[in-house]
Amino acid sequence: MSTDTVDLVDYDEAVRRYDPVLGIEVHVELGTASKMFDGAPQTFGAAPNTAVTPVSLGLPGALPVVNGTAVEYAVRIGLALNCTIAETCRFARKNYFYPDVPKNFQTSQYDEPIAHDGYLDVELADGTVFRVEIERAHMEEDAGKNTHVGGATGRIHGAEYSLVDYNRAGIPLVEIVTRPIEGAGERAPEVARAYVNTLRDIFRTLGVSEARMERGNVRADVNVSLRPTPDSPLGTRTETKNVNSFRSVERAVRYEISRQAGVLDVGGTVIQETRHWHEDSGSTSPGRVKSDAEDYRYFPEPDLVPLAPPREWVEEIRASLPELPAVRRRRLQGDWGFTDAEMRDLVNAGAGDLVEATVAAGAAPAAARKWWMGELSRTAKSEGVGLEELAVTPEQVAELTRLVDSGRINDKLARQALEGVLAGEGSPEEVVVARGLEVVSDDGALEAAVDEALAANPDVVEKIRGGKVQAAGAIVGAVMKATRGQADAARVREILMARIG
Ligand code: MN
Repeated sequence: MSTDTVDLVDYDEAVRRYDPVLGIEVHVELGTASKMFDGAPQTFGAAPNTAVTPVSLGLPGALPVVNGTAVEYAVRIGLALNCTIAETCRFARKNYFYPDVPKNFQTSQYDEPIAHDGYLDVELADGTVFRVEIERAHMEEDAGKNTHVGGATGRIHGAEYSLVDYNRAGIPLVEIVTRPIEGAGERAPEVARAYVNTLRDIFRTLGVSEARMERGNVRADVNVSLRPTPDSPLGTRTETKNVNSFRSVERAVRYEISRQAGVLDVGGTVIQETRHWHEDSGSTSPGRVKSDAEDYRYFPEPDLVPLAPPREWVEEIRASLPELPAVRRRRLQGDWGFTDAEMRDLVNAGAGDLVEATVAAGAAPAAARKWWMGELSRTAKSEGVGLEELAVTPEQVAELTRLVDSGRINDKLARQALEGVLAGEGSPEEVVVARGLEVVSDDGALEAAVDEALAANPDVVEKIRGGKVQAAGAIVGAVMKATRGQADAARVREILMARIG
């Protein structure tokens, strides 16, 4: 039975009747100056086949040399993922023929990875923490890049000819492999996304990679299988290859759950295969029937000696690890006195760094949060841009809060000042001066405005004198309106009560 003519099962229905199990392999390109086994520079966007040496081209007789920085980065990643760092480990040849691998094998690690048996705690959008067990993190090299020209799909089938660029061949990779991720249930797509997102943040914090998803620095292969109940044996899995955005990871898992449920519902068999992800249609299609490990005829790489990271060196690296994102988040939440929900909203909105910088520039945490999560989030949303793309700096937001704190402007005027900053009219101070936004607290001007409002509203005056003090709000409102919001409301109320009393 073809698996691809089958009807998709509604997602909610699928996860009611099947238990999804995930397995995620993440490849991250390390940001070293040179490649994994040779001195060719690592470049992005260089002319094709200009960043190569005989080693990256797999020329006969060329011998590999291990990149020490890449090993250090792999150890950093392993430690950050709570892994054991192997006392000794080895490279292996993973044999397969494809034009982007000029040696006909990829130098990887097989049964002796540099790091193994770790875990990563992943926080979901509602604050639930989900632990993902890590089986291994191993070092390997990237392949070159094929471009298939002339076909409708950009794939090799139907192409007129293909081009190969070996600039990427040999760039150091670390591949992180999870153990089966069980127990996520209906939240499996969300867990998958949060896991890859958390890893990306860690790579950046560790400084081992720019981790730019859109450049393919981080790529996820997502394995999905279904079983009738959590007690059943694991079902047959598919592996959707090279998914390279957080959103796509989530969508690919969701799609495979719906598709596999459709196959199983009609008594079909899920085929163990790799699948391609199609961003436009939000669907997957069959790739190749998945090779088992033995098809790759792994064997130890004879041109490289085993690697034995000295224990003192590993401990030095452990001691020098930067504060990881989850720890930093908890520390900042404590410093700022935010609730869990406030902190989560902040992080989900991508405002953590901005608030931190605003506080560092002198703003009170609550005020910094208020501006970034309120007015500025609304503006960013309506303009369809990220918060960090807005034309206002954390320093300017801090300046705005200082103007409010000093009483020179109130909240309403501050919003106008911010509008001016965003429109490119200058700093908050400059906008306040240029637009004449300062609060009027000069008694002479305020008394005149109060007298005018009293004269125009004799009925309100009667009410206040009759004991309805809350009616005073109407007079204050009239004064605020007459002064275009610039009156000092508290002072207006004092003057008003003095006048009537
Ligand atoms: Mn790999």
